[in-house]
Amino acid sequence: MVAATVMAALTFLALYNSREDEFRHAVENSRNLVAIISGDLARSVTRNDLSLRGVVADAERPETWTLSPYLRQRVLFDRGLASPITGDAYVLDAQGHVKASMSGSAYPGLSFSNRDYFTVQKNNPAAGLYMSNPYSSQAGNGALALALTRRIDAPDGTFDGIAMVSIRIEYFEHLLDNIDLGPNGGGVIVLDNGTLIASRPTARRGIGSNYAHTSNFASIASHPSGSFVSDGSLDGVSRLYTYAHVPGTPLIVGIAPAVEDVLADWRKRNMLAGAMTVLFGGAYVMVSWLFAFALRDKARAEAELQRIAATDALTGLNNRRAFDRRLAQEWRRAQREQTPLSLLFIDIDHFKRFNDTYGHATGDEVLTVVAERIMSGTRRAVDLAARYGGEEFAVVLPNTSLEGAIKVAEKIRKRVESAALAHEDTQSGHVTISVGCASCKPPEGGNAAALLAAADVQLYAAKAGGRNRVAWQANAAQSAA
Ligand code: GH3
Ligand code: MG
Ligand code: MG
Repeated sequence: MVAATVMAALTFLALYNSREDEFRHAVENSRNLVAIISGDLARSVTRNDLSLRGVVADAERPETWTLSPYLRQRVLFDRGLASPITGDAYVLDAQGHVKASMSGSAYPGLSFSNRDYFTVQKNNPAAGLYMSNPYSSQAGNGALALALTRRIDAPDGTFDGIAMVSIRIEYFEHLLDNIDLGPNGGGVIVLDNGTLIASRPTARRGIGSNYAHTSNFASIASHPSGSFVSDGSLDGVSRLYTYAHVPGTPLIVGIAPAVEDVLADWRKRNMLAGAMTVLFGGAYVMVSWLFAFALRDKARAEAELQRIAATDALTGLNNRRAFDRRLAQEWRRAQREQTPLSLLFIDIDHFKRFNDTYGHATGDEVLTVVAERIMSGTRRAVDLAARYGGEEFAVVLPNTSLEGAIKVAEKIRKRVESAALAHEDTQSGHVTISVGCASCKPPEGGNAAALLAAADVQLYAAKAGGRNRVAWQANAAQSAA
């Protein structure tokens, strides 16, 4: 599970990183588009400003106003002013009346003295080039435009009117139309006072409305350029905005592809990878679990088989096989470590008679009780009690001297006796056992069979000595070996 989780985490991290790349790429792309639009705008403004400066210079020369209207027009408005993006160009007098126009149109009686492009120049001799808020142009049948104006001074430095050229809002909209913003993308051109000049898609509140109060505008206005994601408070579409101020102008250009469009390709490409990771990761974990369960069950079954193979079914003690294996092991260990090894050989007294009197079933019960007494008589974890066969038992006592072994044997004998299992046909009237006890320090070259034989001999000695007793022999294997 850890492996699968780590793999999945790495995959998703890679997917996430590629998502970040996608964003970076989109920002880069937007930055390029913004630079192109910005360059176009800066060039247009510069070119028109150059012409306006010419208009101002000529309008400030008294002799210009002595020329015939035709020549005056040709002198004031050079051909650079007439372009597809510009509307009419004018000279207004100090009261805001049209003094001359590029188209030759006259507006008798009309004053534009309350327009922002007029008052700014009137009130501020150092205003320089001014770009106005959008207005609906009277000359252009109500079409939206904005004005570029410059102040005209009288020879004494007082305000003597303005030179002005109008720029169609269409021009700004065409700039945004010419770029691919994606199905849900947007683009805006705004003045640095927050006034909307053009937008794609068309803004609900319309050109000329002010966005200075919106959450992002403060940071847009105060940084020369940047990028941010906006949740689209206007139309609910989350977009990635990249903006820049157009140098030398009050314009700000923003390009905003929809986040959804930016990530569309990435989603398509990585949905499959993500799904596969989850699917194969899940399958991997499931198969691993199945294997783990199967292995555990197998291990349990094997352990149980081993236990059964080493256990005597009637008494629950170790069986003869387990005893033989363990005795050989302990013999080798005692040989290596030069420690004493003792062995008890136990046989129930007159058990044939018991069976004859009480029956085999009761005999089996007695075997179980005796086994239990032997078990509880051998306390140490390394001691091993086993049913050797029939009504005979054996106990291996590693690292135990003859004295210790005799003590254990006596304890077991007494425990069986104190169980007070009735056995009429004997002297004591109870079931008793005889124990043969042998001990040695295993010598080089000897083997466990000698110790076993010595214990067996002692068992017979105990029987011969009157039963219900322990008989022993020290250094059993030395004599046997
Ligand atoms: P003693 O050892 O005191 O000399 O006399 P004994 O009667 O016990 O003699 P022996 O060891 O020759 O007899 C063993 C008897 O134990 C034979 C059989 O009736 C009984 N026996 C052996 N195995 C089992 C068993 O699994 N269950 C029962 N009920 N009896 C068994
Ligand atoms: Mg016997
Ligand atoms: Mg017996």
